Amino acid sequence: MIKPVLVIHGGAGAIPRTETTPEVRQQYEDALRQILNEAGAILAIGGSALDAVTEAVRLLEECPLFNAGYGAVFTSAGKHELDASIMNGKTLQSGAIANVTTVRNPILAARAVMERSSHVFLVGTGADDFAREQGLECVDPAFFSTTARREQLDRVQRTLGGGMVLDHDAQSLSAAPLDEDKKLGTVGAVALDSHGNLAAATSTGGMTNKQPGRVGDAPMIGAGCYANNRSCAVSTTGTGEMFIRMVAAYDVSAQMEYAGRTLEEATHSVVYDKLPTIAGAGGLIAVDAEGNISLPFNTEGMYRGYIKVGEQPFVAIHDKPEEALLSQDG
Ligand code: ASP
Repeated sequence: MIKPVLVIHGGAGAIPRTETTPEVRQQYEDALRQILNEAGAILAIGGSALDAVTEAVRLLEECPLFNAGYGAVFTSAGKHELDASIMNGKTLQSGAIANVTTVRNPILAARAVMERSSHVFLVGTGADDFAREQGLECVDPAFFSTTARREQLDRVQRTLGGGMVLDHDAQSLSAAPLDEDKKLGTVGAVALDSHGNLAAATSTGGMTNKQPGRVGDAPMIGAGCYANNRSCAVSTTGTGEMFIRMVAAYDVSAQMEYAGRTLEEATHSVVYDKLPTIAGAGGLIAVDAEGNISLPFNTEGMYRGYIKVGEQPFVAIHDKPEEALLSQDG
C-alpha cells in the first residue's frame, strides 16, 4: 500500500557557523514544519500530489524567509524577476514562467500555464499578462521587496561588485542558519499521492545580483524540476547554470529508467559525482514511485523536510542524518 509523502526544500548554501542563534534556527525549522503540516494535509485526505506541491510552494513563496515570491532576492538592477515551474508525473504535463514581476504567486502562474494554455513556458510581460487574464493575484513589483533582501543586495554589491553570490569561501555576513548572501534560495516540493502519482514544483527569485533577464534552472523542465510516474519527482536548488548544463533533474530520472539505478544511487550520482565536475553547488529533493526519498546536497546545508501521511514531519538544515532512514518502510 502506498504511503503518501511530501518533501520540501527552501534552498541550499553555506552556513555561518558562529553566528546562528538557536532562535533563528528555530524560526526556519518552524516555518518548514508548518508548511509540511499544512500542505501534507492535502495528501492525508486523498488529495493529489499536484495539489500538495502547488500548495507547499505557494506557502514557501508567501514566507519571507525563503527566496521566492515575497522576500525574493534582487537583481543587479534592484528589481525582482521570478521564475517557477511545475510538472505532473502522471501525464508529463508541465508549466513554467520566467522573469515575471507582478504575479504574487509564480507557482500558480506556472500551474495555469500547464492547465489553461496550450504552451509549456511563458516569460516576461507575456507571462505576467497571462496570469492577470487568468485572474491570478497581481501586485506592485515593490510587494516582493523586504528590507533584509535590500540590505543583502547592498552587501553583495559592496563585497563582490558585479560578481555573483556563490563564493562559499567569502566571509559570512548573515545571522541566518544558511548565509543569506551565499544561500541558493530556491524553494521546491515533490510528492507521491495515494493514487501513486508523482509531482514536482520549483520557484525562485534567482540569485542575488543576477543580471536582469537571466533565467536559472528553476523554471526549466528537466533542469530544476521533473516528474514522471515511471521513475521519480525532483526539485533542485543550486547554481542554476550548472544544473541546466547537467540537465540535473531529468538525469536522476533517466539514470533510474535507463540504468536501473535506485533513487538514491541516481541522486547521489548527480549531486556528489556529476555536478562537482563543473563546480555545481547545491542539492535536490526527490521521491520515487515507491515513496523512497532522497535529499542530497553538496553545500554545507539545505533547508529541507518531509512528511509521511500519519507521521510527524522531519526537518533539517545542516546535517544529513536522514539519508540512512529514508525508505518507504523507514
Ligand atoms: N537554482 C536557482 C537559480 O539558479 C538558485 C537557487 O537555487 O537558489 O536561479
